[in-house]
Amino acid sequence: MLDTCKICGQDTQCEVHHVVFRSQSKCMQTIKTNLIPLCVECHRGNTGAHLNKKTDLRLKKNLQFHLEVIFIAKEYFDKEEIKEILECNENEVMAILKKLYVHVEGYRKDDLIIRLLGGRKYI
Ligand SMILES: [Zn+2]
Ligand SMILES: [Zn+2]
Repeated sequence: MLDTCKICGQDTQCEVHHVVFRSQSKCMQTIKTNLIPLCVECHRGNTGAHLNKKTDLRLKKNLQFHLEVIFIAKEYFDKEEIKEILECNENEVMAILKKLYVHVEGYRKDDLIIRLLGGRKYI
């Protein structure tokens, strides 16, 4: 599809890239914020997201920052809030939350972000 590549900014033929790979977090595969358009070079070229660790890491750090921004309001969220913030459906939110501990206050932001990033944070 014709789109603007998220790395080089070119308006060109793009492919959909999963910032957190399928193998890293299955529950993130259909979540909008994890999907970005990349041109063929930035996607599968030598400096691209799949072949270059630095590029991959930069995209993951950007996503982590983005998640911290969209969940900045408080420390705990309930299911409906998470669904709304991630713009996802019931099945998608359940897949994310089934492995998370529910505190009295709700789901803890940090647990949630780590879960979305595939079990870790990037520093
Ligand atoms: Zn590009
Ligand atoms: Zn990809």
